[in-house]
Amino acid sequence: IARRSAPLREQQVATSDGSTFSVLANIALAVEAQSVFAHGADGVGLFRTEMLFCERSLPPDEEEQYQAYSEVLKSAEGKKITIRTLDIGGDKPCEFLDLPKEENPFLGYRAVRMYPQFHEIFTTQARALLRASAVGPVNIMVPMVATLAEIQWLHSQFAHVAQTLQQEDIPIGEWHLGIMVEVPSTLYLLEKAANYLDFVSIGSNDLAQYFLACDRGNPYVRHLYDYRNPTFLALMRDITRRAQAAGLAISLCGEMAADKQMLPLLVGMGLTQLSMAASAITPCKEALKVLDVQQCRQLLETAIGCDTSEEVTECVEHFMRAQS
Ligand code: PEP
Ligand code: MG
Repeated sequence: IARRSAPLREQQVATSDGSTFSVLANIALAVEAQSVFAHGADGVGLFRTEMLFCERSLPPDEEEQYQAYSEVLKSAEGKKITIRTLDIGGDKPCEFLDLPKEENPFLGYRAVRMYPQFHEIFTTQARALLRASAVGPVNIMVPMVATLAEIQWLHSQFAHVAQTLQQEDIPIGEWHLGIMVEVPSTLYLLEKAANYLDFVSIGSNDLAQYFLACDRGNPYVRHLYDYRNPTFLALMRDITRRAQAAGLAISLCGEMAADKQMLPLLVGMGLTQLSMAASAITPCKEALKVLDVQQCRQLLETAIGCDTSEEVTECVEHFMRAQS
Protein backbone atom coordinates (compact mmCIF):
# COMPACT_ATOMS: atom_id res chain seq x y z
CA ILE A 1 0.00 0.00 0.00
CA ALA A 2 1.39 3.38 -0.92
CA ARG A 3 1.62 5.50 2.25
CA ARG A 4 1.45 9.21 2.13
CA SER A 5 4.24 10.77 4.12
CA ALA A 6 3.10 12.74 7.16
CA PRO A 7 3.00 16.52 6.78
CA LEU A 8 6.32 18.15 7.67
CA ARG A 9 4.97 19.47 10.93
CA GLU A 10 4.54 15.94 12.21
CA GLN A 11 8.02 14.80 11.32
CA GLN A 12 9.54 15.98 14.57
CA VAL A 13 12.48 13.77 15.35
CA ALA A 14 12.84 11.65 18.50
CA THR A 15 15.90 10.26 20.27
CA SER A 16 16.16 6.51 20.93
CA ASP A 17 14.46 6.99 24.32
CA GLY A 18 11.54 8.85 22.72
CA SER A 19 12.31 12.50 23.61
CA THR A 20 11.18 14.77 20.79
CA PHE A 21 13.19 17.62 19.33
CA SER A 22 12.50 20.58 17.08
CA VAL A 23 15.19 21.17 14.50
CA LEU A 24 14.72 24.67 13.17
CA ALA A 25 16.36 26.81 10.51
CA ASN A 26 18.30 30.05 10.66
CA ILE A 27 17.43 32.32 7.75
CA ALA A 28 18.39 35.83 6.66
CA LEU A 29 15.87 36.43 3.86
CA ALA A 30 12.11 35.87 3.69
CA VAL A 31 12.46 33.98 0.40
CA GLU A 32 14.49 31.26 2.12
CA ALA A 33 11.56 30.15 4.26
CA GLN A 34 9.85 27.93 1.71
CA SER A 35 13.01 26.02 0.88
CA VAL A 36 13.99 25.39 4.51
CA PHE A 37 10.60 23.79 5.17
CA ALA A 38 11.11 21.64 2.09
CA HIS A 39 14.44 20.59 3.66
CA GLY A 40 12.68 19.34 6.77
CA ALA A 41 12.93 22.33 9.12
CA ASP A 42 10.35 22.14 11.92
CA GLY A 43 10.20 25.93 11.87
CA VAL A 44 12.47 28.97 11.81
CA GLY A 45 14.38 29.50 15.05
CA LEU A 46 16.13 32.66 13.90
CA PHE A 47 15.18 35.02 11.10
CA ARG A 48 17.96 37.62 11.12
CA THR A 49 16.30 40.76 9.76
CA GLU A 50 19.49 42.77 9.15
CA MET A 51 19.54 41.93 5.40
CA LEU A 52 16.29 43.82 4.99
CA PHE A 53 18.01 46.90 6.35
CA CYS A 54 21.52 46.75 4.96
CA GLU A 55 23.02 48.26 1.81
CA ARG A 56 20.35 50.90 1.41
CA SER A 57 20.14 54.59 2.19
CA LEU A 58 16.78 54.42 3.99
CA PRO A 59 15.35 51.75 6.27
CA PRO A 60 12.47 49.61 4.94
CA ASP A 61 9.05 51.08 5.77
CA GLU A 62 6.37 49.29 7.76
CA GLU A 63 4.65 47.90 4.66
CA GLU A 64 7.81 46.43 3.17
CA GLN A 65 8.67 44.77 6.48
CA TYR A 66 5.12 43.54 6.94
CA GLN A 67 5.27 41.87 3.51
CA ALA A 68 8.58 40.16 4.32
CA TYR A 69 7.48 38.85 7.74
CA SER A 70 4.08 37.79 6.39
CA GLU A 71 5.73 35.84 3.58
CA VAL A 72 7.62 33.73 6.13
CA LEU A 73 4.57 33.25 8.35
CA LYS A 74 2.38 32.27 5.41
CA SER A 75 4.76 29.59 4.19
CA ALA A 76 5.19 28.34 7.79
CA GLU A 77 1.58 27.13 7.92
CA GLY A 78 1.56 27.38 11.70
CA LYS A 79 5.07 26.10 12.34
CA LYS A 80 7.11 27.96 14.93
CA ILE A 81 8.68 31.15 13.58
CA THR A 82 11.09 33.37 15.50
CA ILE A 83 11.93 36.74 14.00
CA ARG A 84 14.74 38.77 15.51
CA THR A 85 14.58 42.53 15.73
CA LEU A 86 17.35 44.59 14.22
CA ASP A 87 20.83 43.64 15.43
CA ILE A 88 23.17 46.33 14.16
CA GLY A 89 26.47 47.59 15.51
CA GLY A 90 29.49 45.44 16.39
CA ASP A 91 30.14 43.22 13.37
CA LYS A 92 26.93 44.36 11.65
CA PRO A 93 27.26 47.79 10.02
CA CYS A 94 24.36 49.92 8.83
CA GLU A 95 24.56 52.48 6.05
CA PHE A 96 21.62 54.71 6.83
CA LEU A 97 22.57 55.34 10.45
CA ASP A 98 25.43 57.68 11.07
CA LEU A 99 26.91 55.73 13.93
CA PRO A 100 29.87 56.90 15.97
CA LYS A 101 33.23 55.22 15.45
CA GLU A 102 33.93 53.20 18.59
CA GLU A 103 37.10 51.79 20.08
CA ASN A 104 35.33 48.57 21.10
CA PRO A 105 32.24 48.20 18.91
CA PHE A 106 31.37 44.76 20.31
CA LEU A 107 31.18 46.29 23.77
CA GLY A 108 29.45 49.42 22.60
CA TYR A 109 26.37 50.75 20.93
CA ARG A 110 24.61 47.66 19.59
CA ALA A 111 21.10 46.41 18.90
CA VAL A 112 18.67 46.95 21.81
CA ARG A 113 20.93 49.65 23.22
CA MET A 114 20.17 51.78 20.16
CA TYR A 115 16.38 51.36 20.12
CA PRO A 116 15.53 54.28 22.43
CA GLN A 117 17.52 56.72 20.28
CA PHE A 118 16.38 55.28 16.94
CA HIS A 119 12.89 54.88 18.24
CA GLU A 120 11.05 55.27 14.97
CA ILE A 121 13.04 52.47 13.36
CA PHE A 122 12.30 50.25 16.36
CA THR A 123 8.59 51.11 16.45
CA THR A 124 8.18 50.60 12.71
CA GLN A 125 9.64 47.11 13.01
CA ALA A 126 7.53 46.34 16.08
CA ARG A 127 4.37 47.42 14.21
CA ALA A 128 5.25 45.33 11.16
CA LEU A 129 5.95 42.27 13.33
CA LEU A 130 2.75 42.57 15.35
CA ARG A 131 0.69 43.14 12.20
CA ALA A 132 2.27 40.02 10.67
CA SER A 133 1.13 38.01 13.70
CA ALA A 134 -2.35 38.13 12.16
CA VAL A 135 -0.98 35.84 9.42
CA GLY A 136 0.44 33.28 11.87
CA PRO A 137 1.85 33.06 15.41
CA VAL A 138 5.17 34.86 15.75
CA ASN A 139 7.96 34.82 18.30
CA ILE A 140 9.63 38.22 18.47
CA MET A 141 13.20 38.01 19.71
CA VAL A 142 15.43 40.89 20.76
CA PRO A 143 19.25 40.68 20.56
CA MET A 144 22.00 41.88 22.93
CA VAL A 145 19.88 42.30 26.03
CA ALA A 146 22.00 42.67 29.18
CA THR A 147 19.74 44.09 31.90
CA LEU A 148 16.29 43.68 33.43
CA ALA A 149 15.60 47.35 32.68
CA GLU A 150 15.94 46.62 28.96
CA ILE A 151 13.53 43.69 29.28
CA GLN A 152 11.00 45.84 31.12
CA TRP A 153 11.37 48.57 28.51
CA LEU A 154 10.83 46.09 25.67
CA HIS A 155 7.81 44.58 27.37
CA SER A 156 6.12 47.96 27.79
CA GLN A 157 7.07 49.09 24.27
CA PHE A 158 5.56 46.02 22.62
CA ALA A 159 2.44 46.26 24.80
CA HIS A 160 2.10 49.89 23.78
CA VAL A 161 2.53 49.16 20.06
CA ALA A 162 -0.03 46.35 20.30
CA GLN A 163 -2.48 48.68 22.02
CA THR A 164 -1.97 51.37 19.37
CA LEU A 165 -2.65 48.87 16.59
CA GLN A 166 -5.83 47.75 18.34
CA GLN A 167 -6.98 51.34 18.63
CA GLU A 168 -6.37 51.70 14.89
CA ASP A 169 -8.50 48.58 14.29
CA ILE A 170 -5.54 46.77 12.77
CA PRO A 171 -5.76 43.04 13.47
CA ILE A 172 -3.02 41.28 15.37
CA GLY A 173 -2.76 37.58 16.22
CA GLU A 174 -0.72 35.43 18.60
CA TRP A 175 2.71 36.78 19.44
CA HIS A 176 5.33 36.07 22.06
CA LEU A 177 8.25 38.11 23.27
CA GLY A 178 11.72 36.73 23.94
CA ILE A 179 15.38 37.67 24.03
CA MET A 180 18.66 36.22 22.90
CA VAL A 181 20.82 35.00 25.75
CA GLU A 182 24.13 36.25 24.43
CA VAL A 183 25.38 38.44 27.27
CA PRO A 184 26.42 36.37 30.32
CA SER A 185 24.60 38.65 32.78
CA THR A 186 21.28 37.30 31.51
CA LEU A 187 21.89 34.00 33.32
CA TYR A 188 21.06 35.76 36.58
CA LEU A 189 18.04 37.58 35.15
CA LEU A 190 16.08 34.58 33.96
CA GLU A 191 13.73 34.24 36.95
CA LYS A 192 12.78 37.91 36.86
CA ALA A 193 12.73 37.97 33.06
CA ALA A 194 10.05 35.27 33.10
CA ASN A 195 7.61 37.92 34.36
CA TYR A 196 7.96 39.70 31.03
CA LEU A 197 9.06 37.11 28.47
CA ASP A 198 7.85 33.83 27.01
CA PHE A 199 11.09 32.43 25.66
CA VAL A 200 14.83 32.86 25.31
CA SER A 201 17.32 31.61 22.73
CA ILE A 202 21.01 31.12 23.39
CA GLY A 203 23.16 32.98 20.88
CA SER A 204 26.30 30.97 21.48
CA ASN A 205 28.35 33.00 18.98
CA ASP A 206 28.14 36.14 21.05
CA LEU A 207 27.72 34.39 24.39
CA ALA A 208 31.12 32.70 23.93
CA GLN A 209 32.63 36.01 22.83
CA TYR A 210 31.42 37.83 25.93
CA PHE A 211 31.96 34.97 28.38
CA LEU A 212 35.51 34.22 27.25
CA ALA A 213 36.36 37.88 26.46
CA CYS A 214 37.38 37.07 22.87
CA ASP A 215 36.41 39.14 19.86
CA ARG A 216 34.65 36.54 17.68
CA GLY A 217 36.36 37.83 14.53
CA ASN A 218 39.89 38.31 15.88
CA PRO A 219 42.35 35.67 14.55
CA TYR A 220 44.78 36.30 17.44
CA VAL A 221 42.35 34.91 19.98
CA ARG A 222 40.71 32.27 17.80
CA HIS A 223 42.23 29.48 19.90
CA LEU A 224 40.45 30.90 22.96
CA TYR A 225 37.13 31.57 21.25
CA ASP A 226 35.92 28.01 21.67
CA TYR A 227 32.45 26.78 22.60
CA ARG A 228 33.93 23.42 23.62
CA ASN A 229 35.56 25.12 26.62
CA PRO A 230 34.29 23.15 29.66
CA THR A 231 33.40 26.35 31.52
CA PHE A 232 31.30 27.50 28.58
CA LEU A 233 29.48 24.15 28.52
CA ALA A 234 28.75 24.61 32.24
CA LEU A 235 27.40 28.10 31.56
CA MET A 236 25.08 26.77 28.85
CA ARG A 237 23.88 23.95 31.08
CA ASP A 238 23.07 26.42 33.87
CA ILE A 239 21.29 28.81 31.51
CA THR A 240 19.16 25.97 30.14
CA ARG A 241 18.25 24.66 33.59
CA ARG A 242 17.42 28.05 35.03
CA ALA A 243 15.35 29.07 32.01
CA GLN A 244 13.35 25.85 32.22
CA ALA A 245 12.89 26.19 35.97
CA ALA A 246 11.61 29.74 35.40
CA GLY A 247 9.08 28.47 32.86
CA LEU A 248 10.77 30.02 29.83
CA ALA A 249 10.95 28.08 26.57
CA ILE A 250 14.58 27.83 25.51
CA SER A 251 16.37 27.14 22.24
CA LEU A 252 19.86 27.49 20.80
CA CYS A 253 20.48 29.40 17.56
CA GLY A 254 24.27 29.96 17.44
CA GLU A 255 26.62 28.10 15.09
CA MET A 256 27.28 25.56 17.83
CA ALA A 257 23.86 24.01 17.12
CA ALA A 258 25.07 22.86 13.70
CA ASP A 259 28.18 21.11 15.06
CA LYS A 260 27.44 17.39 15.09
CA GLN A 261 30.12 16.79 17.68
CA MET A 262 28.35 19.14 20.08
CA LEU A 263 24.96 17.51 19.63
CA PRO A 264 25.16 14.94 22.47
CA LEU A 265 26.30 17.72 24.82
CA LEU A 266 23.39 19.97 23.80
CA VAL A 267 20.98 17.09 24.36
CA GLY A 268 22.61 16.52 27.74
CA MET A 269 21.96 20.15 28.68
CA GLY A 270 18.25 19.58 28.19
CA LEU A 271 17.89 21.66 25.04
CA THR A 272 15.12 20.38 22.77
CA GLN A 273 14.98 23.16 20.19
CA LEU A 274 18.00 23.70 17.98
CA SER A 275 18.19 26.21 15.16
CA MET A 276 20.84 26.01 12.44
CA ALA A 277 21.76 26.51 8.78
CA ALA A 278 19.36 24.59 6.52
CA SER A 279 22.11 22.27 5.27
CA ALA A 280 22.71 20.96 8.81
CA ILE A 281 19.08 20.01 9.53
CA THR A 282 18.89 16.52 8.01
CA PRO A 283 22.28 15.37 9.40
CA CYS A 284 21.23 16.70 12.82
CA LYS A 285 17.93 14.79 12.75
CA GLU A 286 19.74 11.60 11.75
CA ALA A 287 22.28 12.03 14.54
CA LEU A 288 19.57 12.74 17.14
CA LYS A 289 17.77 9.45 16.44
CA VAL A 290 20.57 7.32 17.90
CA LEU A 291 21.11 9.37 21.07
CA ASP A 292 19.81 8.58 24.55
CA VAL A 293 19.10 11.61 26.77
CA GLN A 294 20.29 10.00 29.99
CA GLN A 295 23.59 8.95 28.44
CA CYS A 296 24.01 12.44 27.00
CA ARG A 297 23.51 13.95 30.46
CA GLN A 298 26.29 11.77 31.83
CA LEU A 299 28.53 12.70 28.91
CA LEU A 300 27.91 16.40 29.56
CA GLU A 301 28.90 16.07 33.21
CA THR A 302 32.08 14.28 32.18
CA ALA A 303 32.80 16.99 29.59
CA ILE A 304 32.25 19.77 32.13
CA GLY A 305 34.74 18.01 34.39
CA CYS A 306 37.41 18.01 31.65
CA ASP A 307 40.42 20.33 31.91
CA THR A 308 40.54 21.46 28.27
CA SER A 309 38.51 21.74 25.06
CA GLU A 310 40.70 19.03 23.52
CA GLU A 311 39.75 16.65 26.32
CA VAL A 312 36.10 17.47 25.70
CA THR A 313 36.53 16.56 22.04
CA GLU A 314 38.20 13.27 22.96
CA CYS A 315 35.39 12.49 25.36
CA VAL A 316 32.71 13.16 22.75
CA GLU A 317 34.55 11.22 20.06
CA HIS A 318 34.84 8.25 22.38
CA PHE A 319 31.12 8.49 23.18
CA MET A 320 30.19 8.68 19.51
CA ARG A 321 32.36 5.70 18.58
CA ALA A 322 30.57 3.68 21.24
CA GLN A 323 27.21 4.70 19.72
CA SER A 324 28.00 3.50 16.20
C1 PEP B 1 24.70 34.50 18.16
O1 PEP B 1 25.28 35.48 18.63
O2 PEP B 1 24.93 33.32 18.51
C2 PEP B 1 23.67 34.66 17.10
C3 PEP B 1 22.93 33.66 16.71
O3 PEP B 1 23.53 35.89 16.58
P1 PEP B 1 24.54 36.54 15.51
O4 PEP B 1 25.49 35.46 15.06
O5 PEP B 1 23.66 37.05 14.42
O6 PEP B 1 25.18 37.62 16.29
MG1 MG C 1 24.53 37.48 18.34
